[in-house]
Amino acid sequence: MYDPKSLKAEEFIDHGEVMETLAWAEQNKTDAGLIGRVLEKARASSGLNHREAALLLDCALPDKNEEILALARQIKLDFYGNRIVMFAPLYLSNYCVNGCVYCPYHRTNKTISRKKLTQEDIVREVTALQDMGHKRLALEAGEHPKMNPLEYILESIGTIYSIKHANGAIRRVNVNIAATTVEDYRRLRDAGIGTYILFQETYHRASYGQLHPTGPKHDYAWHTEAMDRAMAGGLDDVGLGVLFGLEFHRYELAAVLMHAEHLEAVHGVGPHTISVPRLRRADDVDPDAFQHGIDDDTFAKLVAVIRLAVPYTGLIVSTRENQACREKVLALGVSQISGGSRTSVGGYLEKEPEDDNSAQFEVSDTRTLDEVVNWLMRLGYLPSFCTACYREGRTGDRFMSLCKAKQIQNCCHPNAIITLKEYLEDYATPETRKLGEDLIAREMGNIPKEKIRTLVTSYLSDIHDGARDFRI
Ligand code: SF4
Repeated sequence: MYDPKSLKAEEFIDHGEVMETLAWAEQNKTDAGLIGRVLEKARASSGLNHREAALLLDCALPDKNEEILALARQIKLDFYGNRIVMFAPLYLSNYCVNGCVYCPYHRTNKTISRKKLTQEDIVREVTALQDMGHKRLALEAGEHPKMNPLEYILESIGTIYSIKHANGAIRRVNVNIAATTVEDYRRLRDAGIGTYILFQETYHRASYGQLHPTGPKHDYAWHTEAMDRAMAGGLDDVGLGVLFGLEFHRYELAAVLMHAEHLEAVHGVGPHTISVPRLRRADDVDPDAFQHGIDDDTFAKLVAVIRLAVPYTGLIVSTRENQACREKVLALGVSQISGGSRTSVGGYLEKEPEDDNSAQFEVSDTRTLDEVVNWLMRLGYLPSFCTACYREGRTGDRFMSLCKAKQIQNCCHPNAIITLKEYLEDYATPETRKLGEDLIAREMGNIPKEKIRTLVTSYLSDIHDGARDFRI
C-alpha cells in the first residue's frame, strides 16, 4: 500500500503505485489539455509529482514535447543561472564483497586488478587533483568490511581535508559508500562530509534482486531505506541516483521521484542532488547484455522532466557521457559535472597505464579539467568551484528554502565568479585565463546588488594576497 510517509521501502516505493502511474501516463500521453495543465504547474516552478512527471515523459505530442524542453531550459536558467559546479571522483578502493552484475568491482570478477589507496597514496592523488584546480571531490569505494571499513573511509576524509598544497585545498568531500547504520552516518557527519550519495541502481525490487545476487547490497529494503538512516544520523544533504539501462527508464523516473517525495514528506527536505548515470562498458561488463539502454534523445528528455519535477535539486552528469551529450543535457537541467576524471584506483597519478583495468567504467569525456572549463565558458556557462553553502551551514532545509525562493543565486553567482577567478589565477592555461577574465568582466555586471558587487570586486583584487577562503 503506497504511503510516502512510511519508513518502509515497500510502502514509499510501492510497486503497485509505480505500475498505476505508468498505466495512467500511457493512457493520457496524447491528452493535450491535461499535459498543458501539468506544464502550467511546472511553469510556476513549484515542481511536479511522480505521476505528472511520468505523463510528461510519455507525452506523445510533438509540440508539447518541444514545450517540455523549452521549459526545462527556462527553469534551469531561473534556478541556476549559467553556473555549472565542477567536481571530480576519487576512487579509494575497488575491493568489494557484493555481486552487482553491472559493476566490474563485483566479488567474483577475477580479472580486475584490485587496488586500495594507502594514506600516502591519497596525499599524492589529492595533490594531483589540487594541481588540476579541483576543490570538490566525490569519494568512491566498494563495500568491504575488512578492506574498506568505515575507519578507513574516515581516516581518508581526514587526510584529504588536511592536504594544503600550494594554493590548493579540497573544501568539500562528498561520499559515495555502501548503505550503513545510523551510527556510521553520524560518524560521517562528524567527519565533515558534504553530500552522502547512494545510487539506488534500480528501484524495481525483482530486478534489484537479480542484479544484486549476493552480498549485503542484496537487501533491497536496507539499501532503499539508507537515506532515512543517513538523515537520522544528521546528514541532511543526500544524493539519489539511478543507473539507467538496468531497468525500464519509465519505472525508474517515477520511483526516484517517489523517493524524493518520501524524503520531503518525512524529513521536510528532498534530495540535494539526483545523478543520472547510464550503464557503460567496463572490465567484465558488457552494456549490450542489458536490455534497457536508452538513446541520447530519451536521456535528454529524462533530464528535462527531472528538472521540471524537482527544480531545486542539483542534477549531476559524469564523464560517462561524451561531450556532445553533456552539452545537450547541460542546457536542459544538469547543474554539476565532473571534469578530468579518472575512474580507476590511483588513476590521477598513474595516468592509467594500458594494462590497468581497475576502472569502474569507461570514461567517454576524456578531456582535461582545463579543456572542460574552457569549453563551458565558450558555451556561455560560468564554471564554479564554490563550496560555500556547505561551509556556511547552508545545507538541508536551509539550502532548500533559499533555493525554492530562487535566492540561492544571490550567493552562488558571486561565489562562482570568485572561485573561477581563483582557478584562472592558479591553474588555467593562458587561453582559458583570457577567456575567463572576459567572462568575469561580463558576469560582474549581472550582480544586481551594488553592495555585493563591491564585496566581490574587493575579493577579486585580493586573490593574489592569499584571501582564498572567502565566500558569500
Ligand atoms: S556497485 Fe558498488 S557494491 Fe556493487 S560491486 Fe560495484 S562497488 Fe561493489
